[in-house]
Parts: sequence; structure tokens; C-alpha cells
Amino acid sequence: MDMNTIAQTRETYWGITSVEYAVFYLLAFIAIAVLTYGVYQRFSRYAEGDDDSFSRVNDLGNRIVSATRTVLSNEKQFNRDLYGGLMHSFIMWGFLTLFIATLIIMVDQYAFQKVLHMTFWEGDFYLAYSFIVDAMGLLFVVGIGMAMYRRYWVRNHRLWGRHTSTEDDIFIWTLFALGIGGFLLEGLRIYSAGIPDHEIVSFVGYGLALGFNGIGLATLGAEQAGLNGSGLNVENLHWLAWWTHSLIAFFFIAWVPYAKPFHMLSSFANVVTRDEKAGQRLPNVPSDLDATNAESIDDFTWKEILDQDACTKCGRCSSVCPAKASDRPLDPRNVILDLKSYREDLDAGGEEQPIVADGGTSVINAETMESCMACMACMDACPVEIEHLKSFTRLNRQMTDQGDVAPSMQDVFQNVMQNGNTFGDSPRNRGDWADELEFDVTDAREEEVDYLWYVGDFPSYDERNKQVARSLATILKEADVSFGILFDDEKFDGNDIRRVGEELLYVELAGHHVETWEDCEFDKIVCTDPHSYNTFKNEYPEVNFDEFSDDPMMPFDYEEQWNEDGEIEVYHWTQAVEELVADGALDLSGTELDYTVTYHDPCHLGRYNDEYEAPRELIKATGCTLDEMPRNRSNSFCCGGGGGGLWMDFEEEPKPSEERIREALEDTDAGSGIEKFVVACPMCMTMYEDGRKTGGYEDEIEVVDVAELIVEAIGKADEAQVEVAAD
Ligand code: SF4
Ligand code: SF4
Repeated sequence: MDMNTIAQTRETYWGITSVEYAVFYLLAFIAIAVLTYGVYQRFSRYAEGDDDSFSRVNDLGNRIVSATRTVLSNEKQFNRDLYGGLMHSFIMWGFLTLFIATLIIMVDQYAFQKVLHMTFWEGDFYLAYSFIVDAMGLLFVVGIGMAMYRRYWVRNHRLWGRHTSTEDDIFIWTLFALGIGGFLLEGLRIYSAGIPDHEIVSFVGYGLALGFNGIGLATLGAEQAGLNGSGLNVENLHWLAWWTHSLIAFFFIAWVPYAKPFHMLSSFANVVTRDEKAGQRLPNVPSDLDATNAESIDDFTWKEILDQDACTKCGRCSSVCPAKASDRPLDPRNVILDLKSYREDLDAGGEEQPIVADGGTSVINAETMESCMACMACMDACPVEIEHLKSFTRLNRQMTDQGDVAPSMQDVFQNVMQNGNTFGDSPRNRGDWADELEFDVTDAREEEVDYLWYVGDFPSYDERNKQVARSLATILKEADVSFGILFDDEKFDGNDIRRVGEELLYVELAGHHVETWEDCEFDKIVCTDPHSYNTFKNEYPEVNFDEFSDDPMMPFDYEEQWNEDGEIEVYHWTQAVEELVADGALDLSGTELDYTVTYHDPCHLGRYNDEYEAPRELIKATGCTLDEMPRNRSNSFCCGGGGGGLWMDFEEEPKPSEERIREALEDTDAGSGIEKFVVACPMCMTMYEDGRKTGGYEDEIEVVDVAELIVEAIGKADEAQVEVAAD
């Protein structure tokens, strides 16, 4: 075939009569009208939701650019799942290319050909267009094939759950039919045109055309010449394929807002409106607590409803959830989708139910929410930025309001209310841990200090963690920094009771602390516990103390917005000491210890606040060989202590802490050669000391805090009363 004699373009409605053409556009109009109405309905439903407490559409231009980058790169899908990342990228990029290709044809036909009487869809442009469309279309089909393989052949467990339904099958099979149908049409068209050479750029369709030629598929001309009597010829087949393809496409367009394909819009909207600090800060507590609860589905904000609609049921959240892994009755995907189903049932005239309660009569069971460790792994894994913890906190606040809280948690609330600490111990004993030191710890209420050290409940009252407190005090003393503590004016930081829904007590604690800090002179706040660090850094500055100033139940006298401009720096101790080590204040040569250790990233330091390096730098500064856990940094697996888990008893097998120690001893490169399991959080210390015993690992591994390694490395373990294992 001579490329110069055949126009390098093609006819778009080949074989379609003018009546069919009109029917085609009528159907297209109906499909788009149904789509528009459905999308309008969905978005009007969001408008009925409550206001969200965070700005979600400020700086919209940048939000859209950033969301586009996140969505197009598929970065979240690639996280821990190369196969899933490639699969979704192929499908999404292929789909977008085919969509844009259709728009290009429309622009050429209606703007250029009909109005300007010219076309750009020919020659080199057409050839390049055809090649790109075929290449991306092929990727699209490969991606769909990968999705089908994973769903139906491998039966990847995270894709199947109680919300899996026929819509998932229809979605994937419709896309498959569109992809395959498009190529079939192309092959028939090229074959019927006599397989012109230039069409080789449409290499998939060209290959199919050669195939049709190989099997001797009749052309209309051949049939008319009496060479084929079956009536089956390329023109008829093309007509059939064209209409089938068009009808499937119209069905898909109209179906988008009513089922799973809606995630193509809702997920993008969800990523645009995400809160960058989601999870690390919970929505502020208005003095009218009703506004924060989940008495009915109408209490949920528009963003929480959008979250529900954005869920693609991918199950990534559930697959990383430590509560689910330990067989607790929690599956984060199900919570989001249960709320969605209930809302949709209710909107369709269904019966009202309590949102959360004990005893199985509610949308969400209280036990489900109690199981959450607030570890944020679900949010980190979610590719569409669903803010699970925001909805979960709403449910927890409702439970606390109703009194549906585990008795052990009630005891903790009582202890904090009466004594200011979770142990129920006397506030006067708070500084006793320091009695065994060879020096006095400064009272920051009386003297100006550089570091105002918030010691925290566990380092103050728990025997094992007191060693950590003494280690840190010794380190700071050795580094010659001035530091002081609040003694009996220090109370529980409130981070974890807030996550269980006890908001008023939280405000009371926050008010007490900021009021006390106002009377002290210091440079920065340093915390032993990542949980305190998180709430001081991210949440105390957002509490509107003024709203509670007239409340007789609130004993503080503080009406400002604390640290609104971030003037007071808040540090986790590893960050502060890393600076000291870098400045040479501790005289470490990096050869002092020779243990092989692994390190567990605490959720509130790592995933919550993105601090992964400071503890690692300190471990390495002691000379220890650090062998990473397979699940490290943002993929870290919770110890089980967060979200109140530390105070609750669960029937679980294995405990998250046991599973984690097993991982250290079996799945790291050094395996059983790991001598110490290093932590940087008092709650982790407590959980892992327990897991070491209950899991039967006592003789195999030690649990130590980073501070204990340093104090040993600087030769001050005796002074800190830290037990060092004999060689
Ligand atoms: S925060 Fe952690 S425990 Fe809670 S649902 Fe998410 S992954 Fe599971
Ligand atoms: S919440 Fe996010 S991670 Fe979980 S199933 Fe839905 S889309 Fe996937």
C-alpha cells in the first residue's frame, strides 16, 4: 500500500447511518444527563453534612496541583505494593489517555471540521495519536488483566470483605469490555480498509487486522462477489462491535455516580480537601460537645461523608491494621463502609439506628471502636486520604458521652480526674523517680531553664520506665544543659484519653499545663513520650481555651490561644539529644557499644510526626549495629498501646507486641542475633516488656530505650540506676 495515496486519518462513524448517528447522540445525551444528575445528587448530599472544623478548600489552586500530583503518581498505591501500584497506574493512565483521545476527536469534529472546515486529526498528528492511544490502551487492558488476576485467581484477601458486591465485578468487567472492544473495533476497521501500511502505528489493531486476514474473515466486497455465503463479514461485525462498545460506554458513563466508578471523582475531591495534619491533630473541642458527637448520621461533617464515598474498598487500611491482625473486632474499611451503607439506607427511607453502642443493635459496635489503637497505619496506607481517625474520634466521643467505655478505661479517667495521672498515684510522688539520682533535678517552676522537660506518666510512676527517666536526666546533666521539671504540677498530657473520646478532661489537662508553663521561664519543651510530644506540638495550640473560660468545671484561668505562632519549640527528647550529640556535648566516638539491635518506630513519633532519623542517629552514635525491622518507619506496626489499648484487656492472638518481637527475631537480617529491641516511647516499653514475657521471649531479647543505650555508652549507667546486661 502506498502511504502517499491513502489519507493518514480515518472515518469515525464508518458504517453508521444518519438515523443511527442521531440515536447515538440521543443516547450520549441521556447518559451524560444521568451522570450529571447523579453527581449533583452526591455533592448536594455533602452540602447537607455538618461543617468541618478544618479549612479544606483554602489555597485551592495549590491543593488541586498537589492532589493531581498525588493521584497521577499513584504514590500511595506503590507504597508496600509494587504490583498494585503498576496495576492501578496502568488502568488510570490508560483510562485517562483514552478519555483525552475521545475529547480530541470531538474537538476536531465539532470545533474544527464543522466550524472551521478543517481538520488537525490527520497526517503526523494522526499517526502519533494512534500510536499513543494503542500503547496506552494496551497498558489499560494489561492493568485490568492484572486486577482480574489478583481478584479472581489469587483472590487477594484484602479485596474481599463484607462490602464486596456485584458492583465490583461489574466495574472491572465493564472496563475490560471497553478496553478489548476498542481494540476489536480498531482491528475490524483496519482490516476492512485493506490494512493500510500507515495503520501499523495502531499496532494492536493492526495485529488483529492481520489475524482477521489470516483466518480469511470475509469483506463485504467478497460477500457481494459471492465468495462467502455466511453473511458474517467484517462490516457486519464492525457494526455490531461499534454499537456494543457504544452502549457499554454509555452505560458506564451513566453508572459512574451510582457505584464504584464514582471513586474516580470522589477520591480526587477527597485528596484535594485533605487535612495535611489529619490524625496528629483531632478536631477542636467546642464547648458545645453535642457538635462533636455521633448521635445521628447528620452529625458527620461533609468531609466525613465524602470520605465514605471516596473509599474504593481496596482494603489497604485493613491489611495494615494491627487490631485486625490481632483478631480484634475492628476492620477500618468496614467501619467507613458501614457508615456509608447506613447513610444510604437511611436516605432511601430505611430505619434509624444508634450509630455506636454496646450489644450489636447499632451501626458500629462499641467493641469495634475500643479495639482501635489510633496508630494511623490505616490513614497512612489509604491511597485516597481517608481520615479514619477523624470519624473514629467522633464515634469515641459519642461512646464516652453515652458511658459506653470499658471499665478499665473508666478507671483511667477517674485516676486522671482525681490525681492528674493515669496510675491513680499521688501527685506528690510524681518526681520521686529522681530521688535515686546523684544530683538534684531543677524545679522549673522556680528557676529559669533551657529545657522544660515534660517527663510523663509512665517515666514518673512505672518502675521500668523510671530507669528511662533517670537515663535521660543523666544524659542531659552530662551534656551540661539546664533542664527542669514541674514535679507535682505535671499532669497527664491527655493525648490518649482524647483519642478515646474524653474531651473535657483533655481540655482541663491542657489548660492546666499551658497555665503552668506561662509561669515558667524556659526555651523549649522536651518530652520523653511521643504521645505528649504529639499533643503539645499539634493539639494544645489549637485548643480554644477562651470558649471554656466561663465554665466552672474548668479550673484553669487561661483565655489565650497557646503557642499559636509556634514560638515555643516542642521536642521529642531524641531530637533534642541528637542536636547535643551532633554538637559533641556527649563526647561519643561511635564505638562505645557493639550490640546488634533493632529499632521500633513509635507511631506517635514516626507516622504521626515524621521523625524517623533522630532515634536512629542516636543508636548509631553509641556504636550499636542497627538492623532494621522489615516493617519500619511509616510502615511500622503498633505495639498495641495507643488509643487506650495500654489500659484495656483484649483476647488477642498474637498480641501486637508479641508479633513485633517475633518479627525482630525471625524476619530481620540478623534474626536471632538481635540482642536488644530498642524503643523510644514509654508506652512501647511497657507493651514490649509485657509481650516479651507473654510471648516467651525473655531469654532471647532485651527491650531497652534509646536513652538507656546512650547512658551506657557514656559510662553512666550506674548513676542512672540502669541495669546493664553482663557480657
Ligand atoms: S488507627 Fe491503627 S488500629 Fe485503628 S483502625 Fe487504623 S490501623 Fe487499625
Ligand atoms: S479506606 Fe482507603 S485504604 Fe481503606 S479500603 Fe477504603 S480506600 Fe482502601
